[in-house]
Amino acid sequence: MTATISGATSLTGQMLIAGAPVRGTGKEVRAFDPAAGQPLEPVYQHGDNTHVDAACAAAADAFAQYRATTSEQRAAFLDTIATNIEAVGEALIARAVAESGLPQARITGELGRTTGQLRLFASVLREGSWNGARIDTALPDRTPLPRPDLRQRHIPLGPVAVFSASNFPLAFSVAGGDTASALAAGCPVVVKGHDAHPGTSELVARAVTDAVTTSGLPAGTFSLLFGSGPGLGIALVTDPRIKAVGFTGSRSGGMALVSAAAARPEPIPVYAEMSSINPVFVLDGALKTRGAELGRAFVASLTMGSGQFCTNPGLVIAVDGPGLDTFAAAARDALAGSPATPMLTPTIARSYASGVEALSGAAQLVGRGAPGTSETACHAALFSTDAQTFLASEALQAEVFGSSSLIVRCADFEQMRAVAEGIEGQLTATVHADDSDLDDAGRLLPLLELKAGRILFGGWPTGVEVCHAMVHGGPFPATSDSRSTSVGSQAIERYLRPVCYQDVPAPLLPSAIAEGNPEKLWRRVDGRLTQD
Ligand code: NAP
Repeated sequence: MTATISGATSLTGQMLIAGAPVRGTGKEVRAFDPAAGQPLEPVYQHGDNTHVDAACAAAADAFAQYRATTSEQRAAFLDTIATNIEAVGEALIARAVAESGLPQARITGELGRTTGQLRLFASVLREGSWNGARIDTALPDRTPLPRPDLRQRHIPLGPVAVFSASNFPLAFSVAGGDTASALAAGCPVVVKGHDAHPGTSELVARAVTDAVTTSGLPAGTFSLLFGSGPGLGIALVTDPRIKAVGFTGSRSGGMALVSAAAARPEPIPVYAEMSSINPVFVLDGALKTRGAELGRAFVASLTMGSGQFCTNPGLVIAVDGPGLDTFAAAARDALAGSPATPMLTPTIARSYASGVEALSGAAQLVGRGAPGTSETACHAALFSTDAQTFLASEALQAEVFGSSSLIVRCADFEQMRAVAEGIEGQLTATVHADDSDLDDAGRLLPLLELKAGRILFGGWPTGVEVCHAMVHGGPFPATSDSRSTSVGSQAIERYLRPVCYQDVPAPLLPSAIAEGNPEKLWRRVDGRLTQD
């Protein structure tokens, strides 16, 4: 059965395996419109192990040809995917809005971010430093031993499995940052789509598949599968032809993939971005001069997108006193005026409600947003506790995905530092400081470096810029590998590995490290960066 989107683009309810539409054989899945409270056509069906096998076999077959493409060929391919996505933009936005309940403006922005990411990786390929070219020239006369000619470059790992996230149906999904960075690296990709937005996934997968065809690439360069995480998802991660995994989602889901990947006869890296409560440290001077303003701005960040951001500010840490009272009162009032907005799925809404209920039993309620009537409504919540109780409780440190946050009242600045030391790894840590707070901020910074992938002063963590300096990562449990980022151009490094070529005859050297520097790359030659 097909379903029409905006009268222009029809959906078939099929997976796409190496260019071929394939109907699943397992559980039937329908997307759900959380704003309208209704299921959406068409019906999708989960795939099984034969589909995993077909997609992985095609990806493995494609790898040799795909990795031999030039940087320019892969850059043009990524540009074509972006253009193809834009060509179905109207239908795609309509479907993603319906499947996620997120506002049209947010999804429109996310589409721009998705195509922007693809083009960013195209520019990374054209710029060339991703090759990691290093040359240590031979020293035949060195004593006591001569040095051989040594050259290094980066090569792709092999086929990558990507798990779409529910909360960014475009930017962290089928052609999101994980897929774009893996394809840029030269790795074929097999995506496990998220059941929350199968129609959006199908439209984007077709845009990628069309780009594969028109770019003359092997069909197995890209596949989209649907299926259950513990079933098809684990089969994908444990398939011997898969060489790395990208994931964004829950801590339990991410850890299941990490364990499965580590237990393989050949363990592989899993880049899982999982759980973070994103502490916000508000220092005394800032609280005194603009406590109310900060309280209102905090609530705007907390309630954005029903709080369904991995960078949602789930923790506020400050010294107890009149300044913090002013902050909390302003936040409570702003929260009372914030409407209930739909969450992505009924399951996520239920998990949010039970997380808030658990906090209700362990901390004091400061305020709540307006209640909603639908089963997916996010009824925002703000709690408070003291630092000692917080540090003694694992439950208070757990991520509640959605608009829920906890104020931790500290006796003094030393206790704020103790909280910074006591929390788990985070994607972000935010500091609000005035000039009078600079000494304290300077003492906090070295602690925060050990806890977070990104440290912000003066802003709110929810916006994540896609650029070269971004780190969307951080120590466990924010990610399973704190050395990496899943946002920004550096994400390509997750899917590359260095190879050293010793005394390889000149005619056999890859062009990135060849004599005469045919690609005019920046290379580290005998320790010095040069384009010579
Ligand atoms: P999720 O449950 O972690 O699911 C993400 C993906 O991982 C899905 O494809 C899922 O498959 C798969 N998966 C889950 N558990 C698995 C397992 N044990 N073995 C293999 N694969 C598994 O995340 P979600 O569906 O997006 O949302 C659920 C919760 O995740 C939220 O309530 C929230 O707590 C958290 N979340 C966190 C972030 C973040 O950035 N920190 C983002 C999104 C969600 P199935 O669909 O078959 O389960």
